Order: sequence, then C-alpha cells, then structure tokens
Amino acid sequence: MTTPDDHTLLRQAISLAAKARASGNPPFGSLLAGPDGTILAEEHNSTLTDNDVTAHPELKLARWAARELDAQTAAGTTMYTSCQPCGMCEAVIQWAGLRRVVFALSNEQLLDIRPGSSRPPVPQDGPALLDEVRAAVEPYYR
Ligand SMILES: [Zn+2]
Repeated sequence: MTTPDDHTLLRQAISLAAKARASGNPPFGSLLAGPDGTILAEEHNSTLTDNDVTAHPELKLARWAARELDAQTAAGTTMYTSCQPCGMCEAVIQWAGLRRVVFALSNEQLLDIRPGSSRPPVPQDGPALLDEVRAAVEPYYR
C-alpha cells in the first residue's frame, strides 16, 4: 500500500529515470529516503556510460547504504525506484538491510514494454569437493 508521501518520492525517482536517459543510459532511477522522507542519496542507471552491467541505481544505493549507514539507520530507510528491483538488486537490498522498497513499474510491466529483456538463468553445477571447501570455510565460522 502506497501513500501520497510515497508518490511524491516516487515521482522524484521517475525524474531520476529521465536523468538517466538524458545521460545516455537506460531510463531507471532510484532514491533512498530516511524515516521522515528525507532523501539520503539518489542514483540513476549508468550501465552504458560506465560499461558496467551491474550499474543499476538500486544496487548502487544499496551498496552505498551498506557502506555509509549503520545497520539501524539502514533498517529505517525506504528505497523509491522507478522500476521494481531486478533479482540482483533485490538480493543486495536484502543484504544491506533496508526497510522497504516502493516501485512504480513492475518487472512484469517492464517486460510488456520491452519484451525479451529478461535473461535465461545460467546453469549451476555443484555441490562438489565438500571436504576441501569445508576446510576453507568452516574455520571462519567457528
Ligand atoms: Zn537491478
């Protein structure tokens, strides 16, 4: 459930999407707000100008939050984003411990606008060499 205050900040995220487009990048923008709605940081997509497929605004903001905010402050933030975070960004948002995400366009709606934009999953093989990997990993957690 979104509120009128959410919509105000979401409109600013959509403006950042336009800024991304104007800078030669795909049109996606996001911002991170504190509990009172104060904007803490904002980003736009820079995958093309940075030649970096991971330069999504949500990922950049989540990394910023994990680096610059203490855990309690991060846990009070809301990310407003023009499009629903992709799986990569969603994972980093979770690792960064943000409180909430509010998006405008869903991933499903994006696929309607841009069919074929999803990528097939990369096959993963494993587990393997369990004794060897346990010797490397287990001491860290004991
Ligand atoms: Zn993403």
